[in-house]
Amino acid sequence: MDLRLDDAQLIARDSARRFATEFVDPLAAQADQEQAMPAVLLDRLREGGWLGAALPSEWGGSGMDPLAYGLVTEEIGRACSSVRSLLTVHNMSSQALVRFGSAEQQARWLPDLCAGRKLIAFALTEPDAGSSASAIRTEARKGTDSFLVSGTKIWTTFGQIADLYLVFARCEDAPVALVIESDREGVHVEPISDVLGTRGSMLARVRFEDVEVPATHRVGPVGAGISFVANSTLDHGRFSVAWGATGIIRGCLDACLSYATQRRQGSHSISEHQLVRRELTNMLAAHTTAHALCSRAAYFRMIGDPRAVMETTLAKYHAAQSAVQTATDAIRLHGANGTSRNYPVERYMRDAMILEIIEGTREVLQDSLASYALQRPYSRD
Ligand SMILES: Cc1cc2nc3c(=O)[nH]c(=O)nc-3n(C[C@H](O)[C@H](O)[C@H](O)COP(=O)(O)OP(=O)(O)OC[C@H]3O[C@@H](n4cnc5c(N)ncnc54)[C@H](O)[C@@H]3O)c2cc1C
Repeated sequence: MDLRLDDAQLIARDSARRFATEFVDPLAAQADQEQAMPAVLLDRLREGGWLGAALPSEWGGSGMDPLAYGLVTEEIGRACSSVRSLLTVHNMSSQALVRFGSAEQQARWLPDLCAGRKLIAFALTEPDAGSSASAIRTEARKGTDSFLVSGTKIWTTFGQIADLYLVFARCEDAPVALVIESDREGVHVEPISDVLGTRGSMLARVRFEDVEVPATHRVGPVGAGISFVANSTLDHGRFSVAWGATGIIRGCLDACLSYATQRRQGSHSISEHQLVRRELTNMLAAHTTAHALCSRAAYFRMIGDPRAVMETTLAKYHAAQSAVQTATDAIRLHGANGTSRNYPVERYMRDAMILEIIEGTREVLQDSLASYALQRPYSRD
């Protein structure tokens, strides 16, 4: 594995870093407090082509390789997890169309999705089906040329403003994936507010009441909705979340390095205390480790190694857990100021907690990673 970045990866990372500093940082606290994505930021994301970062250039996307996309996600995730969550759901759900969509679906939706003219959200979770995706109850009754969809989705990131939903339902008990436009008759969108973290991600509960959806909106075959479409989409999302968590760790490290050197006690700064220095060391190690695991996952994805899915899971598991730990330590290092909204670390901690739940909870990932460990995958390195 070559650790040097190629020119395209360097350009992607550096321009995302500039974008995050110039446009995302100034609005991150506002998105969190107002629980909405500022319109101007959405425009900037579209103009910069960030919404199509991981999507193929033939449809107007930026065509980044997994490592470049990961580095971009880290930069944006360092600045604001809500913006990162938009990148995550939009790219992962669009990717499902790249992978499983018909030629007609791709031609109809991908140009708008790559340009960010339309937003797509991922609607799998239901009030009674979270970790157990196979328990979904949303029904897609098959007619001659259409499906009639009824059911409720919950926690749909950017569900409040999405133009399209990638919806998972059951058709005669077989799982099926469908693209449903938000302006179809019978689609009801209810905002979810006052959540702990990623508060600018405009969550929604989306109810489908006998929504008529053309049969041509089906993505992949009936029966493949969960095992292929949802799982491969979640794998993409997990990769993005892993890098987003790495971004939070870096944000905490940056904030703590500044604070520890600026906070004075008489003629000394707190960075001279051994125990504060230990925290800084731990944060540096946390960032380096998470970054290395994410880069390793990217490498496996780029060479098509069959371990890519589980290495991505490992990266997400570790980075999310490490982000929670690092953010909690970062609050402590800031003392009382760590609890204030005048500093970013309390937001980092709230956002990091979310990353341990989405795209597979810590416990669910622990279970699947234990099965992976039992295969002794490291012995193949
Ligand atoms: C901010 C936010 C954004 C989200 N965005 C989206 C989105 O865009 N689209 C979408 O579809 N969903 C989204 N979700 C939902 C998210 O994917 C689910 O919350 C997650 O899958 C967990 O499901 P649950 O909340 O129903 O918890 P449950 O599945 O009920 O789990 C509750 C507890 O039981 C444990 N548990 C469950 N099953 C097992 C098991 N097999 N082994 C061991 N422990 C287990 C869990 O680890 C957890 O601790 C979002 C959630 C949040 C908080």
